[in-house]
Amino acid sequence: MVAGLDEKLEPIYRDVLRRNPGETEFHQAVHEVLETLGPVLVKYPEFTEHKIIQRICEPERQIIFRVPWQDDQGHTHINRAFRVEFNSALGPYKGGMRFHPSVYLGIIKFLGFEQIFKNALTGLPIGGGKGGSDFDPKGRSDAEIMRFCQSLMTELYRHIGQYTDVPAGDIGVGQREVGYLFGQYKRITNRYESGVFTGKGLDWGGSRARTEATGYGTVFFLNEMLKVRGESLEGKTCVVSGSGNVAIYAIEKIHALGGKVIACSDSNGVIVDKNGLDLDLVKQIKEIERRRISAYAEERPDATYLPDGVIWTVPCELALPCATQNELNGKDAQTLVEQGCIAVAEGANMPTTPEGIRVFQEAGIAYGPGKAANAGGVATSALEMQQNASRDSWTSEYTEARLQEIMINIHRNCHETAEEFGQPGDYVAGANITGFLKVGRAMVALGLI
Ligand code: NAP
Repeated sequence: MVAGLDEKLEPIYRDVLRRNPGETEFHQAVHEVLETLGPVLVKYPEFTEHKIIQRICEPERQIIFRVPWQDDQGHTHINRAFRVEFNSALGPYKGGMRFHPSVYLGIIKFLGFEQIFKNALTGLPIGGGKGGSDFDPKGRSDAEIMRFCQSLMTELYRHIGQYTDVPAGDIGVGQREVGYLFGQYKRITNRYESGVFTGKGLDWGGSRARTEATGYGTVFFLNEMLKVRGESLEGKTCVVSGSGNVAIYAIEKIHALGGKVIACSDSNGVIVDKNGLDLDLVKQIKEIERRRISAYAEERPDATYLPDGVIWTVPCELALPCATQNELNGKDAQTLVEQGCIAVAEGANMPTTPEGIRVFQEAGIAYGPGKAANAGGVATSALEMQQNASRDSWTSEYTEARLQEIMINIHRNCHETAEEFGQPGDYVAGANITGFLKVGRAMVALGLI
């Protein structure tokens, strides 16, 4: 018997384990969704009849390819790249590209699977996909990054398109990489097809507020969870893990709404600044100089740098994991709860382990899972696609207002669905069920394809 799964879902999960050996992150993501779908199958037997769960767990297409490239010394390197086109019932596959040495098929499949439900939650017409490579961009020159991106796109271009599959950024892929990837696509296809990639620069088809969207959106979602509990961000002490794109703009919006972020991190260590982080300095170090976060303590002697530190030991009222998967375990969750944390909103994808989630839920604190809380990034990517399709460019104010409205709707839908299915306050169930219903109904309608 697999813990947490009812008798209809257990054999399906066992089949996922058997068919996808060794892909532990993918198993974890599937288990977390299946755990919440029992009541849906009771209420809607057509999903069982049409084998929608079995079909949703199997990607429509998986592409794996070699990426050869030369470094600045003329040495040859070989990386492996992936694009998993998971589900296109609602629209073209949509999801970022990740460059990190830990990338393998199991990580891309977990991210692609999550993306199906997240994209459905946005209410916009986008399917789910994800890609990436085990390439490590750290310490590489601009020229090396460009050669790698061009080599990758020389294969990827034949699989993507504005109506087929629309990649974007993720860990290790920011505007610089999107530029090199989009440039090579344009060169090979001889088409200025702006809608094929999102996260572009403002001068060449990007959307205002896209850079900020994931972090801002996570904070909007957190704010809604707090409102339900009669709370607000005003005066709250927060910690935000990571110091990349999502973390930086989560910090910016928390500060704008009256909270104080006292710690952030990177994969080497944690910075604690009790006065509240100086975000301009973090941006200078991370976005411009591309240095390690330890540099913050060199500039601000009042701040402490904890090499190999665990950010979740820093006492706070609000915690936002914004770095990577499984960065917050059961023990960390226990520490957070014991030290007075009242809400957790995930900017990263699947950053809390299943044990951690259990601790938060048993303690009754507000817990917003990534597939709902960080959906603002992909939602704004879909807004970028809308602007590209109409050859238009919206103002920051208008785009951010759309983002906020989308996040408020996602929160409300998750909240109401959790209540409807007898699990009030459970945003995990609310997000999974809301996303599944939308995709499942479309799959039934489109027939056995
Ligand atoms: P990013 O700009 O590359 O930043 C990632 C940050 O997380 C960096 O500070 C990095 O530190 C840290 N990190 C990465 N791997 C780590 C590890 N194994 N252990 C500890 N720290 C680690 O990436 P991002 O776009 O902010 O993405 C962060 C998370 O948000 C990911 O889970 C991503 O899937 C998710 N997400 C992103 C978006 C988006 O729009 N960008 C949208 C939805 C969800 P180092 O520099 O030391 O590696």
